[in-house]
This record gives sequence, C-alpha cells and structure tokens, in this order.
Amino acid sequence: FKRIPLPKQSKDELYQLGDTFNDMMDLLEANYEKQEQFVADASHELKTPLTVIEAYASLLKRRGNKDPKLFEESIEAIHSEAKRMIDMTQQLLMHARLDEKWKVEIKDISLPELIEASVRSFRQGYKREIFLDLQFAAMVRTDPQKLKQLLYILLDNAHKYSEAPIQVIVRTEQGKALIEIIDRGIGIPSAEMDKVFDRLYRVDKARTRRTGGFGLGLPLAKDIAAAIGAELRLDSVEGQGTTAQVRLDIVNSL
Ligand code: ADP
Repeated sequence: FKRIPLPKQSKDELYQLGDTFNDMMDLLEANYEKQEQFVADASHELKTPLTVIEAYASLLKRRGNKDPKLFEESIEAIHSEAKRMIDMTQQLLMHARLDEKWKVEIKDISLPELIEASVRSFRQGYKREIFLDLQFAAMVRTDPQKLKQLLYILLDNAHKYSEAPIQVIVRTEQGKALIEIIDRGIGIPSAEMDKVFDRLYRVDKARTRRTGGFGLGLPLAKDIAAAIGAELRLDSVEGQGTTAQVRLDIVNSL
C-alpha cells in the first residue's frame, strides 16, 4: 500500500488528487487487515468442530463396537458438532450474499402457526427446552421465510449464551404483535449493546470462544428485520439474561 509523497508548500488540484488517493489507500489497507483477520478467525472457528469430529471418529473406529456408552457419546458429539458447522457455514454464505438485493416476499400469515413451526424445528435440532406462551393470535404481513430466519438467529443466540430453558412469548403491545425470546444467560454488558449489531463484533472473545460464531448473526437479524417490516430490539442485563423483541404490524386478530 504505497502512498504518494505530497509537497508541503502547494495545495493545488494535483495535491488534492494525491491527498484523496492517499486517503483511499488508508481505507483499503484497513479493510484488507480486517478481511485477513476475518479469514483467520473463520478458519479457526471451523477447525474447532472438525477437530472434535475427527477425534470422536477415530475413537469410534478403535473402540466403538466394544463400548456402547462411548458409541452413544461419540455419535452425539459428532452430530452436534456437524450441526454447528452447518450453521456457521450458513451464516458465512449469508454474509457473502448480504449486499445483493434480497428477494422479499411479503404476504399475510398466521403468526401463531409460524411461531409454533419455528419453535418446533428449533427444539428438534437442539435438545433445549423452550416454553412457548401464545397469548395472542393474529395475521401479520411479512415475509414468512425471512421471519423464521430472524427468529432462528435469536433462538440460536439464546441457546448459545444460556443454559436454562428459553422462553418465547407472543403478545400484543400498543396495537402491534410482539414476539419475545427470553433467556436467563450471561447477558450483554450495557456498554456493548450498540456494538453487537456491528458485523464481526463479538463481546469478549474469551467469553464467547466456546460457542463458535462470527459476530454475523445480529447484524443479519437487523437487516432482515428492516427488509420485512419488523422492529428488532434487545434488552439485556449482564449476568442475568437477554430479551430479544420483534414487533410486527397486525393485519387482523384471529
Ligand atoms: P455470534 O453469536 O455469532 O458471535 P451475533 O452477531 O449473533 O454473533 O452476536 C454478537 C455478540 O453479541 C455475540 O458474540 C455475543 O457476545 C453477544 N450476544 C448476542 N446474543 C446474546 C445473548 N442472547 N446473550 C448474551 N450475549 C449475546
């Protein structure tokens, strides 16, 4: 990243051109370093589950047919690590496509049906208890696939950053449908609340290392919400837990 040496005395057009060029170089260099760091982080994140899979596969090969308990444990670990890798690659792919124009298909859908389907498929994938409390039923106008994806990101975070059961409440507030995803997990420090929506940002790497992820979930969730006419908010208390809120316009109550 070479810079153009600029003369001190003159400030003519040529000087300005050179100055602009140097600014561009600064930007390019900063971006380049960020990309390199990202590739390094991403490779590391993907390598961790692969290492676990490899270790269990080799255990299975050596002792799997003699030890039923080890067999169970290995299959379980391989399955969940493979799933984690699928989720991570999915996020990377979405990230790569993020700047393309999205195809959004808005229609009227039954909110309780969509929530039940999302919670059911999440429960199946991850063996985590989710308490669903449907206090309100309505038709909402949105893109169902994208809304599911948004809920999935929020459920996934609730799952990653907490151990206890997750609570999902659907209710109405000030004429809008409100979906709340509540976890009793590690929470987010208030000073970090704005930053968690920045791409690639993760609160304290040491704390989140174990969970895997790239800091792409929430920025994606924010973009999805904007595209499908939903409002997304996070409330959190460090050490106590996080509530994610999604608000949607109601077409009519059921
Ligand atoms: P990722 O989870 O892949 O790191 P996200 O963009 O989804 O990326 O989240 C950014 C950061 O915000 C996370 O790394 C984590 O530190 C924090 N975070 C998000 N959701 C929660 C939650 N429910 N509880 C605690 N921390 C959270």
